[in-house]
Amino acid sequence: MSTQKAFASTGDLAEKKISFTEIGPDLYAFTAEGDPNTGVIVGDDSCAVFDAQATPAMAHRVVEKVRTVTDKPIKYVILSHYHAVRVLGASGFNPQGIISSEETHRLIVERGQQDWQSEYGRFPRLFQDAESIPGLTWPTHAFKGEMTLFLGKREVKLMQLGAGHTSGDIVAWVPDARVMFSGDLIEYHSACYCGDAHLRAWPRTLNAIRDFDPKSVAPGRGDALNGQNTVREALAMTRDFVTSLYGAAEMSVVKGRTLKEAFAATREAMDNKFGSFAIYEHCLPFNVARALRRGLGYRRSRDLDGGSRSPDVGSAASLNYRETKLTLATKEIDHERSGPEKERRPDYRNGPGSERRLPLRIRQWVRDRSPAGRTSGRAKFTPEVSFRTICGAT
Ligand SMILES: [Zn+2]
Repeated sequence: MSTQKAFASTGDLAEKKISFTEIGPDLYAFTAEGDPNTGVIVGDDSCAVFDAQATPAMAHRVVEKVRTVTDKPIKYVILSHYHAVRVLGASGFNPQGIISSEETHRLIVERGQQDWQSEYGRFPRLFQDAESIPGLTWPTHAFKGEMTLFLGKREVKLMQLGAGHTSGDIVAWVPDARVMFSGDLIEYHSACYCGDAHLRAWPRTLNAIRDFDPKSVAPGRGDALNGQNTVREALAMTRDFVTSLYGAAEMSVVKGRTLKEAFAATREAMDNKFGSFAIYEHCLPFNVARALRRGLGYRRSRDLDGGSRSPDVGSAASLNYRETKLTLATKEIDHERSGPEKERRPDYRNGPGSERRLPLRIRQWVRDRSPAGRTSGRAKFTPEVSFRTICGAT
């Protein structure tokens, strides 16, 4: 399979068709067949955009569309979360203010640079004119819980309804039109990237969105959702994706599968339903690695990460899971080597020579689970390493 040789998305260079869809009075969704969307809220005296695209050059394509419906200034850029393809184009709108949750601000500090490099490497098509990016995007306003933005008389509620796609996700709700901008919390016929996801919280956050019963939603990826039935369909689709992934991971942990086996089992559970979704192949290795770590339980993950609150796939978390086992196994080997003579006497309960087979078995076990078939050394676990481990890419 060609996807085993490179990131699916590095070969994904075909231009997507842009749509600019009205989803309520003076409300629009800029969409592009599964590429990151941007929402537009036009108020009495100014506008706000929800998510900024990956580069200023790409933001200009949004501005062009906005100028077909209004000449009011774009005063605010609202960031649904910290990912590079959502935030790095912000300067292209020349806004007065850039708004995010405090948690998103924290994530930009913690790993904004790393995510930029990672996404740039994985999604070259989304970084047109990458040299136009002036640097990381820093919010000028950050909030916790909820804040209200007024565009003239028009009220816009920005809310943290819970974690999901990341720990810092926010949605924008326009009460006069009952329209929501969901960011990547909802995807439509597009895979959910779960490399930073909180998979157990995500369905609860979807419930919170459903409780607003929006008339229309601009999702993070995929076509605009016009009408309550389409919104419900997209909510169900996203929920199914997230729970299928997490369920497959839990099962793999219970069954003690290796990462590679877990990857195959996840495919079995998900390919039929979601294989045709945009960026599905691209996301899968990250999704499996993240879900496996979450499948271990949050407290244990925290321990493994030295207390970091929400480490991503690149933070060595899921490999630490395997390294923990490696450490235990290695200790057993050391004990076999250095223990008193009597402890190394043959144990005939399992047949002659079984005391030698045990460490060999452990060594083999260790070799099977280490990233490059090595029995020592601490490989840095990056998304790329994860991908290669699973897919055997070079
Ligand atoms: Zn994202």
